[in-house]
Amino acid sequence: QQGRAQFQLFDRQQSIEVEQSQRLAESLRRELKQCPEHFSTAYQPLYSVQSGECVGLEVLARWKSPVHGVVPPSAFIPLAESRGLINALTARQFEIIRQDLANSKGHKLFIPIIAVNVAAQQISDPVFERMLLDFARDVRTSGWQLEVELTESQLMTQIDGLHERLQNWRRRGIRIAIDDFGTGYSCLAYLHSLPVDKLKIDRQFLQAQTESRKEDQIMYAIMSMANALGIEVLAEGVETAEQLTRLKQLGCAIGQGFGLAPPQPWRNDLLAPLMPGSV
Ligand code: C2E
Ligand code: CA
Ligand code: CA
Ligand code: CA
Repeated sequence: QQGRAQFQLFDRQQSIEVEQSQRLAESLRRELKQCPEHFSTAYQPLYSVQSGECVGLEVLARWKSPVHGVVPPSAFIPLAESRGLINALTARQFEIIRQDLANSKGHKLFIPIIAVNVAAQQISDPVFERMLLDFARDVRTSGWQLEVELTESQLMTQIDGLHERLQNWRRRGIRIAIDDFGTGYSCLAYLHSLPVDKLKIDRQFLQAQTESRKEDQIMYAIMSMANALGIEVLAEGVETAEQLTRLKQLGCAIGQGFGLAPPQPWRNDLLAPLMPGSV
């Protein structure tokens, strides 16, 4: 691949890894096609930090293969992206979410959010866009609002026509969230120029163990900036009561994390508020 007169030495370990990922990719392709029931969705609740009300759910893909066991998203999402299977996976998830939401009671007092992760290559894919706009309509009909989570690096590499596309999605009632905020180039300049509704601050800031609490200052700065721009802020990775208290003090609006609620199968009471003392 590198051209003539070039060669590369592969060590044994490397070729074993290549082989394993090849096998995993083949299973992924086959099971997506033949055994859609091996794929499911987990839902992780998002809470108002101040009131403990649940404001929505993030959807996370799950794969249980008879050959490979439970495969983590960190292993199969990149494969799905590189092997052209990501739309098939997304289609399967949308199908499951549709059914779950159609059977749900939603919420009487507000419109809960259902947040889905979007892969970089999907942003500019017209096939994905049709799927997404269709899905958004069904989500709205069920009394929910759709939010898409994009990462900073995706936004930086998909500049062409990005603004128009996001505007178009937004006109159809889709909210735009930036995921893992603070881990990419963190170019703040695009924030005011792009139609963004929410920042999800990466868990490294909340979970940092440094004495100086520099990370709290950074989170505070992000929140002030977001506030000035009318953008909502969510902190990822809330695991302890101490972290929740810090978020309250910082004035962060929304929290998500294992300490509040883990990703879990669909239940009708996923939107229940946090119980006092449950963190
Ligand atoms: P993400 O979008 O940042 O999702 C949050 C991840 O953090 C999830 O991992 C979740 O289980 C985990 N998490 C939640 N609370 C905590 C916490 O308090 N502490 C820690 N340490 N982790 C927490 P998961 O489910 O393994 O997903 C990993 C990544 O895979 C996601 O990161 C997302 O980038 C990707 N992913 C998952 N499902 C999909 C999907 O359907 N489509 C796409 N394109 N990507 C997906
Ligand atoms: Ca996410
Ligand atoms: Ca994230
Ligand atoms: Ca992530």
